[in-house]
Amino acid sequence: MAAPARGEILRRAGDLLDTRADAIGHDLAREEGKTLGEGVGETRRAAAIFRYYAAQTLEPDGETYPSASPRTFLFARREPVGVVTAITPWNFPIAIPAWKLAPALAYGNTVVWKPAELVPLTSVRLLEALLDAGVPEGVLNLVVGRGSVVGDTLVTHPSVDAISFTGSNSVGRAIQLKATERGKKVQLELGGKNPAVVLADADLELAAEHVARGAFLSAGQKCTATSRVIIDQAVFEPFAERLAQRAVEWPLGDALDPTTKVGPLASDQQLQTVLGYLETARTERASIVAGGDRNDDLGSGYFVRPTVLTDVDPTSTIVREEIFGPVAALLAADSYEDAVEIANDTPFGLSASVFTNDLDSALRFARDIRAGVVKVNQESAGLEYHVPFGGTKGSSSGSREQGKAAREFYTEWKTIYIDPGTPGG
Ligand code: NAD
Repeated sequence: MAAPARGEILRRAGDLLDTRADAIGHDLAREEGKTLGEGVGETRRAAAIFRYYAAQTLEPDGETYPSASPRTFLFARREPVGVVTAITPWNFPIAIPAWKLAPALAYGNTVVWKPAELVPLTSVRLLEALLDAGVPEGVLNLVVGRGSVVGDTLVTHPSVDAISFTGSNSVGRAIQLKATERGKKVQLELGGKNPAVVLADADLELAAEHVARGAFLSAGQKCTATSRVIIDQAVFEPFAERLAQRAVEWPLGDALDPTTKVGPLASDQQLQTVLGYLETARTERASIVAGGDRNDDLGSGYFVRPTVLTDVDPTSTIVREEIFGPVAALLAADSYEDAVEIANDTPFGLSASVFTNDLDSALRFARDIRAGVVKVNQESAGLEYHVPFGGTKGSSSGSREQGKAAREFYTEWKTIYIDPGTPGG
């Protein structure tokens, strides 16, 4: 199929997702526990992603080059990689698949997609929109099942040319090994332990609001969530008070209740993991200034109160490991240099924030921090769909998704020499 025709299908898929956003967002909230607003917002974002890649199908797909021979027409063009396996997590069950499927299809690949076990309904909703929009039979294939059962085949099958994976570090690195030893292209987007640095000159109200958003919205189940907050000693107490106030006051509850700001965790397994980390925090003698436990008043749901921890050791488990829950650990810094050193002291490098009114400090931080995404006076989570997204260090395999950057992964160059068939022609 010609690229513009593929684009038309993707545009229709985007429009269908917009039309169905309320219903799909509702399903997403019921299935994954994200609030209704977040679920509908995520679906609309996916719609925009499909329309963006629809437009990309009209962009130039190659370059011409001067050749040493004046008779030669020399050009290179991007061709599809082939069959792509997309493996996605449960925490953005519509948006993450969208930012893999849309470029994979736009650039002419076929896809086998394996969503996370927790979100079959929302995955089917996304598939329906694409099939209803006219994706031809066989081009997009949904496989549901446990990663440990179906995963290996999807990664190692000889017909698979490339694997795009988003999920945990342990699963991702194992997939990378299997894929590379078979000569397949592989892309990993993994976890984070994202810092927010609050400098002494920051607007503390703004900083507390954005750190709370980064740490507590979606119950902290975002790879770009803020989980370490590094605060200049001079403003530590007033900042901690403001953050704790939000942790206590932000409504926690039923994902479908429009007044809810923080919904439940996605599963019992997530609940046990997060409660386990809170237990570790106690063992590691952290002080709990807000939250720190399950909210039993809300019945048997997986509700964990937004939590603020202080007196944490930079080497402790809760500061080193990704928790994937509504938990912010606060660390004090003596200077800008000290703050950056603490911020960079992590195996991860996905996103980071700095709060300051000083342009010099903002620019220095943007240079000094080792992260794929840096935000000044904004929460660490969230990125628009037309810019490159990915991490450094342990957060990624080094590639980038979204925007034009996605083209690198889903296509490969072919270089073509054409000479006239008749010598002297
Ligand atoms: P996970 O690694 O448990 O699962 C991710 C996907 O891999 C699921 O579809 C799962 O079924 C599949 N899988 C599991 N074992 C497999 C195997 N052996 N072979 C093939 N596939 C297998 O991760 P999760 O719990 O679903 O997601 C949470 C993690 O994802 C967090 O670490 C989070 O930081 C990360 N994440 C990263 C980004 C990013 O863009 N960097 C975005 C969202 C989430």
